[in-house]
Amino acid sequence: MEPHWDVLIAGGGPAGYSAALYCARAGLRTLVLEQLSAGGQIALTTQVDNYPGFPEGIDGFELGQRMRQGAERFGARTQLAEVTALELNRPLKTVHTSAGVFQGRAVIVATGANPRRLGLPKEQALTGRGVSYCAACDGMFYRGKTVAVVGGGSTAAADALLLSRLCKKVILIHRRDTLRAASIEHQALLEAPNVEFRWNTTVIQFLGSDRLLGLRLRDLLSGAEAELPCDGVFLCIGRVPATALLQGQLELDSAGYLIADETTRTSIPGVFAAGDVRTKALRQAVTAAADGAVAAHYAEEYLRGAQ
Ligand code: NAP
Repeated sequence: MEPHWDVLIAGGGPAGYSAALYCARAGLRTLVLEQLSAGGQIALTTQVDNYPGFPEGIDGFELGQRMRQGAERFGARTQLAEVTALELNRPLKTVHTSAGVFQGRAVIVATGANPRRLGLPKEQALTGRGVSYCAACDGMFYRGKTVAVVGGGSTAAADALLLSRLCKKVILIHRRDTLRAASIEHQALLEAPNVEFRWNTTVIQFLGSDRLLGLRLRDLLSGAEAELPCDGVFLCIGRVPATALLQGQLELDSAGYLIADETTRTSIPGVFAAGDVRTKALRQAVTAAADGAVAAHYAEEYLRGAQ
């Protein structure tokens, strides 16, 4: 096993790399454990327009890479690995990963959240065969085709808009009659000539066996069911926090988010929660980055006291 680190950071999104930047600048030996590539969910976003400092917007993948470079410039290190287990109760904390076992005196959990599934039969089998959770990743496969988008939040609105520029037709299916997304996002969708809305409607079945051929829909007001032929469906129905490995160790709320206040301290001393994985009102790259800085501050304070 390697010598231990001062701070292990699980997750290399805006929260993780902001924490890494602040920890490294404080002189702490810092390792980020990231599963795929820097940036987390934001790396899957083509255009980020609401992160300050980029008046023309910035590609999400590039923003993630820049965050990593910024932290590594001050000595933070990255290990690409999947975290498989955490032992957090002792003063020296242990993180098991696909690339080996790492130990740290403090841990910052910045594992974010993953797309929520509808939970219908065949959803998993058809994922990548017509069922998708990310328009920025898969939209190009549906150029000139007809697709549905399920959900009424900002992600559904942004994905429907992105797809309207690529696809022949986009049908937005939402279980209520108003979007949760901001009115500016709704207005942009109303102005797109190839976007249709199906309000008060849910998907009850995926049609097709080897590949998605369409959806069976239910009108929640009348109870009427109908089939909607389409080439693809993008499920944008929120996210589920990546906290499965922490159940039974750290306090979680009823939706599975790590309970931590604005100090990012969790129920275990020396363990901090930053970014989308934490209980909070607004989950954005900028609030995640702010959390990372706060977590680093309190981790440093904890480590000074723990010496
Ligand atoms: P969200 O705001 O939680 O919206 C999820 C949507 O899915 C809601 O409309 C919800 O319906 C619907 N839904 C949930 N479960 C469902 C189910 N089982 N069946 C059918 N519909 C279901 O999630 P989000 O849109 O991913 O946004 C998450 C956060 O990221 C938000 O804070 C958002 O502002 C932020 N975000 C920001 C941007 C941006 O600023 N550019 C882009 C994307 C996301 P109800 O409305 O009925 O609850």
